[in-house]
Amino acid sequence: MKKILLLTSGGDAPGMNAAIRAVVRSSHYHKLEIFACHNGYQGLVDHDIFPMQPSDVTGCIQYGGTILRSSRCRAFYEKETRQKVKEFLANKGIDGLVIIGGDGSFRGAALLESEGGPKCIGIPATIDNDIRGTEYTLGFDTARNTALAAIDKIRDTAHSSNRYFIVEVMGRRAGFLAVDAGIAGGAEYIITPEFPVSIEKLAKQINAPKREKKSLIIIVAEAGKPGISLEIVKKLRDLTPFEYRVCVLGHTQRGGSPTVMDREIGSRMGNLAVNSLLDGKTNAITAMQKGRLTLAPFPDPDAPCRQLETSDLLNLSEVLAT
Ligand code: ADP
Repeated sequence: MKKILLLTSGGDAPGMNAAIRAVVRSSHYHKLEIFACHNGYQGLVDHDIFPMQPSDVTGCIQYGGTILRSSRCRAFYEKETRQKVKEFLANKGIDGLVIIGGDGSFRGAALLESEGGPKCIGIPATIDNDIRGTEYTLGFDTARNTALAAIDKIRDTAHSSNRYFIVEVMGRRAGFLAVDAGIAGGAEYIITPEFPVSIEKLAKQINAPKREKKSLIIIVAEAGKPGISLEIVKKLRDLTPFEYRVCVLGHTQRGGSPTVMDREIGSRMGNLAVNSLLDGKTNAITAMQKGRLTLAPFPDPDAPCRQLETSDLLNLSEVLAT
């Protein structure tokens, strides 16, 4: 292993820059040549790669997003395109590829490697925390803190004006963001795709005469349908006598200065990715399992995304909301 190439692909997430910095500096430490490209796989398709120096990553760790920029590259789905990329990388002497991204990006990497491309290690990054094989993905902690900060602000006005709010958080088809932000924000109800509740039942609870609280916050996971909270509020307006305000947090959750956790885990995952390539390991992602950093095989491309396995936190929120 002499030359490594680094890229960020798919949806961006806070903490990607910490991982970029760690890959560049760890490579330099081990006297590897490190290259990068802009805009994910599009940069490879465009043959637009450049060397990285340790000074190129100075001052980036505190920023969200990715200094290498990211994109979704349709051409990379084509085998013919990947063949050309493979030849290009072989001509440049690239032996290893580090891909910071989500499960789609890892699917592309696994295909490139199986078709004779360089050895690949992925670093999981998505605010949704829904990648199989790892209990943590970069960006999740920053996103749940961003959602929490918004819920806290909404709580101030909800409480002062006796208002009912529905706050929609991201998470794709998983409820990780919703349960964590909901518990920490003291939400009265949390709705996730894994443990759906009937709106009729929810309306009954809201209508219950013993309810003493004058304000209310319901956290709704987007559940693969951004804007789903608008459908929910329509039904609740029909079934309860209350007025609701809806706040869709949307892409605010994707940005912002990364938390300690995202910077620290990003740094550790970046370092592990380089060490793994040096040790001859490949076809894997850096993964958090039972609190320990390790490697896991690239996620099965046919398996659904990771989702909440227990309703423990939902049950807790019900107890604490009384
Ligand atoms: P994420 O990595 O965040 O899940 P995407 O699913 O959009 O985001 O994937 C990012 C990029 O990875 C795609 O634009 C494409 O270039 C590449 N990719 C995704 N799936 C495949 C696939 N099945 N075959 C080849 N490349 C893929």
